[in-house]
Amino acid sequence: MIEKLLCKLFGHKYFVIKRFSPASRKVGCWRCHKQWGMNDRVKAFVPWDSELQEHYMEREV
Ligand SMILES: [Zn+2]
Repeated sequence: MIEKLLCKLFGHKYFVIKRFSPASRKVGCWRCHKQWGMNDRVKAFVPWDSELQEHYMEREV
């Protein structure tokens, strides 16, 4: 896919999907539609998966 290649070459086009706290948020790339979890406190930037989904959705109640 050309989108994935463009992201590899030029980097992702990030946007915030959801903010969980001032330090943590879920971001996505509008070009290739990948998603990540981001946490400033622990300097984490990891691919969004079901484990993260559960972790954050539990707190959201
Ligand atoms: Zn991308």
